[in-house]
Amino acid sequence: MATRAHLAPVWLRIFDLEVTHGEGVYLYGTDGRRYLDFTSGIGVTNTGHCHPRVVAAVQEQAARLLHGQANIVYHRPMLELVEALLTVVPAPLDTFFFANSGAEAVEAAVKLARYATGRPNIIVFQGSFHGRTNMAMALTTSKTIYRAGYQPLAAGVYVAPYPYAYRYGWDPETTLRFCLRELDFLLKSQTAPEETAALLVEPILGEGGYVVPPPGFLAALRERCDHYGMLLIADEVQTGFGRTGRFFAVEHEGVVPDILIMAKGMASGLPLSGIAARAEWMARWKPGAHGGTFGGNAVACAAAVATIQVMKAERLPENAAARGAELMAGLRRLAERFPGLGDVRGRGLMVGVEFSRNGEPDPAAAKAVQAACFRRGLLLLTCGTYDNVIRWVPPLGVTAEQIQEGLRIFEEALAEVAEISR
Ligand code: PLP
Repeated sequence: MATRAHLAPVWLRIFDLEVTHGEGVYLYGTDGRRYLDFTSGIGVTNTGHCHPRVVAAVQEQAARLLHGQANIVYHRPMLELVEALLTVVPAPLDTFFFANSGAEAVEAAVKLARYATGRPNIIVFQGSFHGRTNMAMALTTSKTIYRAGYQPLAAGVYVAPYPYAYRYGWDPETTLRFCLRELDFLLKSQTAPEETAALLVEPILGEGGYVVPPPGFLAALRERCDHYGMLLIADEVQTGFGRTGRFFAVEHEGVVPDILIMAKGMASGLPLSGIAARAEWMARWKPGAHGGTFGGNAVACAAAVATIQVMKAERLPENAAARGAELMAGLRRLAERFPGLGDVRGRGLMVGVEFSRNGEPDPAAAKAVQAACFRRGLLLLTCGTYDNVIRWVPPLGVTAEQIQEGLRIFEEALAEVAEISR
């Protein structure tokens, strides 16, 4: 306990939980309890905690080579990772740069877009989360806490609305039409297309509230990018690696971005991120124009290769789609009985439940339900600008029984909170 006081308080602590180890969908606490981890460490342990194949790959690589710096040598795991990624990343994205975190990969994508197009500005979408580093923070609009105290932010960032139908209170088609009209207006009023390097978008809004845009949104962005010579950058840091029921979320819409950003689930918990782009764009990035000491670490790359193998062998994206459908059906049934559950939405195992009261966001209810779930051994995260959305992010190998167990605990928690607030 005394040691904890020496940790920077800047880490917002959601639970008071110290763990000894993890296995599959479970975390084991020093309190002797087992917790159903439906956070996956914010969408990272998609293969489950300590998947034996990933652990074996890490152990084997650790004994062989820990660090093979990318400017100095080529190493086998990075080349094997490229081979593996080429089988899952949408064609024709075939050239990769590796880094360590999501934010770092976002920075790389923006640097590449600016460098390769010679244009300065980036358009982002309201509610997006792209990370904590200086540029990524300027690109992030999900909550003021991420920017307050750090202004002025990096320049050249413009914000268009994200088609979040529930928030606007409109049907999906009206919302989409409005958002595209506002985007076109932005390109006329604030940043001309010839000054705009890229549109940077999360195919499903993550931290901003687990919002699935209406069909046609990504295609409409693609169309504008093609028309004006802007790049489409898909931030798949949270949506990637099987989370939404496909390897990457852009696949649902059949849209291929110019740059795809990946991190989180990529190496099952080891720090690794990357961007994929068409060779012709990457070829414009002059040697030395970007880099980093640790990017594409050998052990992390070995973990990523094993992660992709596990995902294919165990058909984890398919399981995410099937279990996600069960989860959403269960949550929708609960929404009929608990009116505080204003909206249930998601894709695969990226599912959000938005709490509202009299049409207004209800973060207190979301937080109370989260705490009641924790007391019963279920870990869930919240998200959304108002923090009134409970997000479900279980490991992708979760079973139907474990989903039902999660729903049962959630139902009990809802009943308890309804009782309190009555
Ligand atoms: N982009 C998205 C969509 C994210 O969800 C996150 C993290 O939650 C990031 C970028 C930043 O990733 P990291 O925390 O690894 O820097």
